Amino acid sequence: MNSVSGVTPASQHDVLIVGGGAAGLTLALSLANRLPPGPRTRRVTLLRPAREAQGASRWAQGGIAAVLAPEDDVESHVADTLIAGDGLCNERAVRFTVGHSREAIEWLIALGVPFTPADADASYPFHLTREGGHGRRRIIHAADATGRALLDTLSAHVEAHPNIEILEDLLAVDIAVNAGRVSGLWVMDGTGQRQWLAANDLVLATGGASGLFAHATSPSASVGDGMAMATRAGASLMNLEFQQFHPTCLYDPDGTPFLISEAVRGEGGLLLRPDGHRFMADHDPRLELAPRDVVARAILAEMRTHGLEHVCLDISALGAEAIEHHFPTIAEHCLARGIDIRHAPIPVVPAAHYSCGGIATGLDGASDLPGLWAIGEVACTGLHGANRMASNSLLECLVQARACGEALGQPRRTDEPRLMSTLDSLMPQHAALLTQLADNGQVWRCVMRLSADEARTRLHSLRQLMSLQAGIERSQHGLREALKQIAQWVSLEAGQTAEAEQHRQASAPRAGLDHLALYQALTLAPLLLLCAHQRHESRGLHFIRDFPMPAPRARDSVIRLSAFAAAT
Ligand SMILES: Cc1cc2nc3c(=O)[nH]c(=O)nc-3n(C[C@H](O)[C@H](O)[C@H](O)COP(=O)(O)OP(=O)(O)OC[C@H]3O[C@@H](n4cnc5c(N)ncnc54)[C@H](O)[C@@H]3O)c2cc1C
Repeated sequence: MNSVSGVTPASQHDVLIVGGGAAGLTLALSLANRLPPGPRTRRVTLLRPAREAQGASRWAQGGIAAVLAPEDDVESHVADTLIAGDGLCNERAVRFTVGHSREAIEWLIALGVPFTPADADASYPFHLTREGGHGRRRIIHAADATGRALLDTLSAHVEAHPNIEILEDLLAVDIAVNAGRVSGLWVMDGTGQRQWLAANDLVLATGGASGLFAHATSPSASVGDGMAMATRAGASLMNLEFQQFHPTCLYDPDGTPFLISEAVRGEGGLLLRPDGHRFMADHDPRLELAPRDVVARAILAEMRTHGLEHVCLDISALGAEAIEHHFPTIAEHCLARGIDIRHAPIPVVPAAHYSCGGIATGLDGASDLPGLWAIGEVACTGLHGANRMASNSLLECLVQARACGEALGQPRRTDEPRLMSTLDSLMPQHAALLTQLADNGQVWRCVMRLSADEARTRLHSLRQLMSLQAGIERSQHGLREALKQIAQWVSLEAGQTAEAEQHRQASAPRAGLDHLALYQALTLAPLLLLCAHQRHESRGLHFIRDFPMPAPRARDSVIRLSAFAAAT
C-alpha cells in the first residue's frame, strides 16, 4: 500500500498537512505566515474533510491550560503535569510546552479568539477556571464552547490566507514511502478512487484513536488513522496503552455523544449515586477533583457494585444564573434532551476521550521516519506521560504546531536515530500477528473481502471488544482473548487460495468509509493491545488487575512494525 513506483502523482505539494483540527489549522497558519509573499514561495496545503463535525477540537468545552495569572507560575503547572503523568512524562516536553503556553495564548488573543472576560477586579483580564489535577485557576476558555470558538477563528484566518491551499473531501489512507523517505500520501475521494499526492514534507494532524472504543466523547472520533498509517510506513509509535476515558459523558444510549466538561466538577459539581450518596469520598480524598482516571474507575466501580447504568453529576447548587453564565452550551444541550441542569442532576457515564500515546515525535513534531511529522493528539511527545492533565492537550496542539512551523522552515537533520521497539519476549502467536500486520497489503486485502455491511458490523464488533478487554480496567487474559479474536479476523480471511483471490478481486466492493476505518482500526487495535499486555504494572490510565501496582521504574513502550517485518 505504500509503494508509488510507476505511479504519476495527482498533484505535487511542498508541505502537506492532514487534518483540520486545532493542530492542523495552527500549523497551516503559523507556517504560511512565515513564508515570503509571492508566487514563487513554498506553499502550504491543508487536507481536511469538509464536514465540520470531524475530529475532537470543535467539541472541546473546558478550555486551554496556560500560565497566565500573576499568581500562577511555570513551575507549578509543570509540577501538576508531572504528577498527573504518574512518572512517565518527558520532563523536557512538559517544560517546553508549559514554557510556551503564554505566548501561544497571546497569539490566539491577537487572532481574535473570543475568550470569556474576567470580572473587573480579577488579576487577569480573561476568566480562568480550574480543572482536576490543576493546583491553580489556569484554564482560559470561551464559555463552555472553547473548541468551537478556537476553530471558527483559526478556520477564518486559514481560509483567507493566500499561501494556503485547502483540499476537501479526500481521506488519507496510506503514506507513500520511497527509499526510506516519505514521498507523499495515498488518498481516497468520495467515489472510492485512490490518488497519490506527492509531498516534500507530510504532517499528520489527524487526532487520536478514541474511535477504537464503543463509546467515545466525540461524535465522530477517529480510529487513529494517522497512527495506523505511520506505523505501516515505518515510523515508531509510543505509549499506545495510555487511553484516557472521560468520567462524565452524558448518558443517553440513543443520542449522539455529548461531553459534560470537567469544569462542571471544577465549579462544584457533585458526583452522586441515583440514591443521592456522594460516592467520591469513598474512593479518593480529592473527591470530585481527583484526576480523571481515578474518577472514571470510581464511577465504573460504583456502576458494577450497584448494578447502575449511570451515575449522576449535580451542579444545581451553583445557582441558575451562574450555570447559565458558565455552562450555556451544556445547559442548552441537556435541556434539548429533557434535563434541566439548573435543577436536576445529569446522568453520566465514562467514555473514551483522549489518546496519550501516538506517533513518537520530538517537540517540533519530527517523527523518526524522514519527511514525516506529527502534531497534536496523533503525536506522542511524552508531555502527558501515563495520564493527560485536563486542558493540556489543546495547549500541546498549539505549542507543537507552532514549533513545527518553525522547524519546517529550516534545514533538517537527516540522521535522527530510530527508536528501538520495546516489545520483547513475545508469545509466538503475537509475533505471528505482528508479521501479518507488517505485511503491507494483508490487512487491506482482508478488509476488502467484506461487503460494506459486513465491514460496518466488524468495526462495531471490534469496538465492543476493545471496550470490554482494553477499557478502563484490563486483565492479561482479556487482552490475550482480544488479540486472539483480531488474529482470526486478520488471518482467516487473508489465508485464501490464489483462485479465490482472483475471484474476489473481480467482485470486490468499492472501498467505503467503514472499510477504511476498519483497515486503520485492524492495524492499530492489536498494537494497543500488545503494548497493554506487555506492561506488567498499573500506572496512570493503564490499570490491569494482574499487576495493580506501578513498577519501580517508569518505561515508555515503543512499537515499530517495520522492525518486525525485517526480523522475520
Ligand atoms: C468532547 C471533547 C472535549 C474536549 N475538551 C478539551 C478541553 O476542554 N481542553 C483540551 O485541552 N482538550 C480537550 N479535548 C481534547 C482535545 O480537543 C483534542 O486533543 C484536540 O482537539 C486534538 O486536536 P487535533 O488537531 O490533534 O485533532 P482533531 O481536532 O481531532 O482533528 C483531526 C483532524 O484530522 C482529520 N482526519 C482524521 N483522519 C483523517 C484521514 N484519514 N484523512 C483526512 N483527515 C483526517 C479529522 O477530520 C480532523 O479534521 C476534548 C476532546 C473531546 C472529544
